[in-house]
Amino acid sequence: MQRIRIGVIGVGHIGRHHARLCAELPQTELVGVFDVDRQRCREVADLYGVEPFSSMEELIARSVAVTVATPTGTHFAVTTACLQAGCHVLVEKPIADQVEEARALVCLSREKGLLLQVGHVERFNPAFRAMEPFLRTPRFIEAHRLCPYPGRNTEIGVVFDLMIHDLEIILHLVQNPVVAIDAVGVAVLSSTEDIANARIRFAGGTVANLTCSRISPEKMRKIRIFQDDAYLSLNYGDQCGEIYRKKNGRIEREAIPVEKDEPLRLQIAAFVDCVRSQFAPVVDGGKGVAALDLAMQISDRIGEAAATP
Ligand code: NAD
Repeated sequence: MQRIRIGVIGVGHIGRHHARLCAELPQTELVGVFDVDRQRCREVADLYGVEPFSSMEELIARSVAVTVATPTGTHFAVTTACLQAGCHVLVEKPIADQVEEARALVCLSREKGLLLQVGHVERFNPAFRAMEPFLRTPRFIEAHRLCPYPGRNTEIGVVFDLMIHDLEIILHLVQNPVVAIDAVGVAVLSSTEDIANARIRFAGGTVANLTCSRISPEKMRKIRIFQDDAYLSLNYGDQCGEIYRKKNGRIEREAIPVEKDEPLRLQIAAFVDCVRSQFAPVVDGGKGVAALDLAMQISDRIGEAAATP
């Protein structure tokens, strides 16, 4: 099997894991890495015995596909350059920091006949995958995503940084339009919101209540889904899930079997499979746009709530 030649652009916190996985996976050949931080670029390239490219254009020219793990504000420019040069792209979430720019990326990928996948990695979390066959129409969803202060990515609010993972999952689970949003958020250590809560109501009556924080002493990535016949609880971090159902008048709890794996590895492997097969990715550019658009509406509500005396 011919390996897909892949380059990694941006090798900071998450990008160095992209590089590791592209070097490890049997279906990829890591061509090299590029980062504007030259020292970091050399360090990561040395770890995997590949070239530390001094220009993004050179790396793109030598690659069939790239993963983009640069700060969100650069996603539009970097992804545009990759698509223009004929590379398939896996871009980290959020797809971009403006909805119009995100839409332009989707149009460009279509025009060029190239794949555009967005790094909404929880869709590849084995616990979520194991839970999917049990999911029916959700009536109420409660999501929590908390972590200690990262000191990175704080140029974007926590809604775009963390909550967007849950927004994309919820848009996948509830296929009805959003009819109302109520949200609050507070900037505590950053200039953008560090903690936020949103309540989203969908046509058909489903309600989702989401809380996220990047100033929490504890880490938590959980979602609970209440549907007509059952209550499901999923822990993304520990990769485990449970389903509670009523049987013979009693509530029965059943652990869902999960084959643990690294979600990012599964995500990159799926991207490469799509490049090879030309199948549509699980999270394509359009889904990335929808998640960003909802995050934007939540961010607007937070701004309105803050401005209300
Ligand atoms: P980071 O600051 O640790 O790394 C970003 C890297 O990009 C740095 O090394 C920086 O020097 C480099 N860079 C900046 N501009 C560049 C450019 N134009 N070309 C090449 N390199 C450039 O940030 P991070 O935490 O790794 O986040 C990067 C992106 O990944 C963000 O969009 C973030 O939202 C996303 N992210 C996703 C997840 C996830 O779970 N999917 C987790 C963390 C971060």
